[in-house]
Amino acid sequence: MALANVDVVVIGGGIVGLATALAVLRLRPDVSVVVLEKEQALASHQTGHNSGVIHTGLYYKPGSLKARTCARGRAMLESWSGAGGPTAFPDYGA
Ligand SMILES: Cc1cc2nc3c(=O)[nH]c(=O)nc-3n(C[C@H](O)[C@H](O)[C@H](O)COP(=O)(O)OP(=O)(O)OC[C@H]3O[C@@H](n4cnc5c(N)ncnc54)[C@H](O)[C@@H]3O)c2cc1C
Repeated sequence: MALANVDVVVIGGGIVGLATALAVLRLRPDVSVVVLEKEQALASHQTGHNSGVIHTGLYYKPGSLKARTCARGRAMLESWSGAGGPTAFPDYGA
């Protein structure tokens, strides 16, 4: 498929780029999406080299956007996990 004919191009195949591509396809399954990654494999940088914990939001200012999005993200990840998503996140960090 020529890039000129693609509806959405996401640059970067880390967690943010891949989650963005997934969200676009869930909202609009009819569009074509391409993820461009400069490395040979996805998640080669920070996404593949983090501490592997799910942050709780404990150390963020209570009620702040950071605290709220962190807690929401954790709940979404746990829910996805229960629905057959990744399950290899046994540890909880701050
Ligand atoms: C030490 C450390 C520990 C961490 N531990 C945790 C943790 O335990 N839990 C947690 O939730 N978060 C953790 N984080 C944060 C988390 O890892 C990052 O916020 C997240 O991985 C960032 O994802 P990203 O997709 O934005 O970036 P990246 O994973 O870096 O992805 C960006 C991608 O874009 C590609 N790219 C860049 N430029 C181009 C280009 N011009 N063309 C094509 N591709 C390009 C890169 O090759 C890369 O694959 C940690 C961060 C650090 C530094």
